[in-house]
Amino acid sequence: MLTGKKILLIISGGIAAYKSLELIRLFKKSGANVKCIVTNGGVQFVTPLSVAALSEEDVYTDLFSLKDESEMGHIRLSREADLIVIAPASANLIAQMAYGLAEDLASTTLLASNRPIMICPAMNPMMWDHKATQENLSTLEKRDGIQIIQPADGLMACGETGTGRMREPEEVLDAVTQHFQNNKPLAGLSAIVTSGPTFEAIDPVRFIGNRSSGKQGHAIASALASAGASVSLVAGPVHVPDPDGVQTTHIESAREMLSACEDALPADIAICVAAVSDWRVKDYTDQKIKKGADKAPPTLELVENPDILKTISNHAKRPQLVIGFAAETQNLNDNAAAKLKSKNCDWIIANNVAKNDSFGNDKNQVTLIAHNERIEFDHADKTIIARDIVTEIIKHFETIQIKQAAE
Ligand code: C5P
Repeated sequence: MLTGKKILLIISGGIAAYKSLELIRLFKKSGANVKCIVTNGGVQFVTPLSVAALSEEDVYTDLFSLKDESEMGHIRLSREADLIVIAPASANLIAQMAYGLAEDLASTTLLASNRPIMICPAMNPMMWDHKATQENLSTLEKRDGIQIIQPADGLMACGETGTGRMREPEEVLDAVTQHFQNNKPLAGLSAIVTSGPTFEAIDPVRFIGNRSSGKQGHAIASALASAGASVSLVAGPVHVPDPDGVQTTHIESAREMLSACEDALPADIAICVAAVSDWRVKDYTDQKIKKGADKAPPTLELVENPDILKTISNHAKRPQLVIGFAAETQNLNDNAAAKLKSKNCDWIIANNVAKNDSFGNDKNQVTLIAHNERIEFDHADKTIIARDIVTEIIKHFETIQIKQAAE
């Protein structure tokens, strides 16, 4: 249900914090990765040890923890999640959010975040009904990306009756599941992604290949599918599994990759992430080439492979948005700009492989270069880079929609 989703759970102070332990268990059972921040108030009700044991992750409590800041950092914590859930959300934390205060790790992370936030309030009914709380909630409701899960009526732990009971963990899980089902900004759009290396056969046992792992391309295909796009992934020989919810075609050579991409056209988006072999042998030998004491080593004559990105960019069925990748070792900007032109694509995602050994690694550092803009992404896990690229794609299509609506 929530497979692979990254949830940051913020547990603030209140007796309802006991429900957050069950919530972590339910999130984990649904396949989500859960990281938790527990506020100073929260640790009075649940121990970080219980939270760590259930989430199977470190627990973050301190804004000025040198260890956390060096390893994770509140900025990264605030950007990494697909969704931030605050459960329970105290009147105090709600007020901090409304006023943009950054007083502790939770409020600072929330202020630094560009991620959707779900607030599950829990408090005494008088605090809930108080004009200050209600005004703070209506301020938050007006902000993009904030959803408030209304508390329930009933008998409170303090003995009073009224509104203020945090929703049950199962109800919060339902709201989170619903959030991910509704949040499909690329629904109705189709995308082609190439990923991995290509292998160019020399004879039945030998080939020309490269070390591309397919991790970045597969992560992009997965992130596009999560955003609602219908995705055709054309994958060279890789060890990473086929992403869920994606139509994957397995190929070996550049020519097979091109033909699978052309079969997948028309599409709205094409992202060529594959490390396509530039050359193949001119003449494939259908028997294993033998070595012999009296034989000179064979000479391989190479011919150029088709350029898939360029072909798609100049195709009669050209997708609206065509994106290429560029691994550069020097003059990243100039080379990427030149590639943008020569390949006739819309964006180049450039990475400096001299600084950043991205091949096969889980992490990457890239810059998005368009004709009139440049966005540098933080060094991060390839799944996060994928999500950041997809966020830019979503913005691109939203801008097109806004322009079309205005015409
Ligand atoms: O020309 P260069 O290999 O540096 O360009 C890299 C970009 O072009 C990547 O997006 C890669 O997937 C794409 N490419 C391609 N077909 C080729 C060579 C590169 O699609 N034959």
